[in-house]
Amino acid sequence: MRTTMLKEFDLGQKTKVELADAHSHLDLIGDAGLIEDAVEYGVATIVTDGVDTKSNLKSLEMADGKHIFPALGIGPEYANSLQKGELEFNLKLIRENAKRVVAIGEIGLDYMIAEDAKNRTAQKRIFEAFLDLAEELKLPVCVHSRKAMDEVLSILEDRKSLAVQLHFFEGDVKDAKVAMDRGYMISIPPIESAKRKRVINDVPVDRFLAETDSPVVGSTPKDVERVVRMIGGIKGIDYGRIAQTITANTKKFFNINKEKGFMRY
Ligand SMILES: [Zn+2]
Repeated sequence: MRTTMLKEFDLGQKTKVELADAHSHLDLIGDAGLIEDAVEYGVATIVTDGVDTKSNLKSLEMADGKHIFPALGIGPEYANSLQKGELEFNLKLIRENAKRVVAIGEIGLDYMIAEDAKNRTAQKRIFEAFLDLAEELKLPVCVHSRKAMDEVLSILEDRKSLAVQLHFFEGDVKDAKVAMDRGYMISIPPIESAKRKRVINDVPVDRFLAETDSPVVGSTPKDVERVVRMIGGIKGIDYGRIAQTITANTKKFFNINKEKGFMRY
């Protein structure tokens, strides 16, 4: 691959390397100053994911189309507590805001918290409803999978048109191979493990997204630097270049085109 010049990001005062956080929960960060600080530091693109009605509404409110971009969905952990009409409300919310939303998520399956078959069925029903909508609106999806990778990959298999971010990728090299064959993006969190290291080793750089899942895992979007450095370290690529690649991957995946104003047009 030809190396291109590192495109730097001019924030007014200093020139910094531009970073992008592909998954966070900004609505849970109480201090707005922390978000401003991350942007100032160079994390100029942050995708914030809703997981329930409240966080979806808040994510839309926080989205500015400049640095903060919303993804909306209902997480599997809410399968048991959804009120009547709540799923429909959120599907409608996405439909009505389809031009502002960069992805549907987070959605998916979490079998670590699924106590019984009934809960698994409820999780799947919600997951599939959002996948249907993503296909209809041609939006990418941010998929959560915990102890459910086989099932998630099998559900996604027939939905070939979907652009998929495997958020907090927990699969092994074999799962990563399936994901790569299908063109999915492997989203790396700020946690190192031997399994993840093997995956990073095997996956080409154009398949990576970097995420903080802050404040749940990382504390602010700034922690995405750590993820990018980790990937660069394992792949033997210098920081500037890997940052540039992953930031470009992120904007491409979420169709974020700031030059054209708001997002994906
Ligand atoms: Zn998350």
